[in-house]
Amino acid sequence: MGFYCTVTLPVRCPFCGTEDERECQTKELQDIFLFEHWRVGDNILAEIPHELRCIAGCAQPPCATLDTFNGKSFTRDRYFTVVLKLDNGVITGEYEALAEDPT
Ligand SMILES: [Zn+2]
Repeated sequence: MGFYCTVTLPVRCPFCGTEDERECQTKELQDIFLFEHWRVGDNILAEIPHELRCIAGCAQPPCATLDTFNGKSFTRDRYFTVVLKLDNGVITGEYEALAEDPT
């Protein structure tokens, strides 16, 4: 998976419409931070664009699929792209959830 930072905030799934607290992972800041964890209102203190492109997953029944690996079954999340809006480095909580598979 590599180095990534996460932002936890309520995000509505673009596929099934379920709003849930989701962990959004981004690799866009991997040259600056390792494994940072932010929430809405945090200032990430980096000179970056106004948007942060992230990956989030949905584990709701319409989206998640049951899979098996080595004889064990597990739930595979459906992943989508979340673009978080920033204001002077502060995570505003505004976002755009895109119905596209980032993997
Ligand atoms: Zn969903």
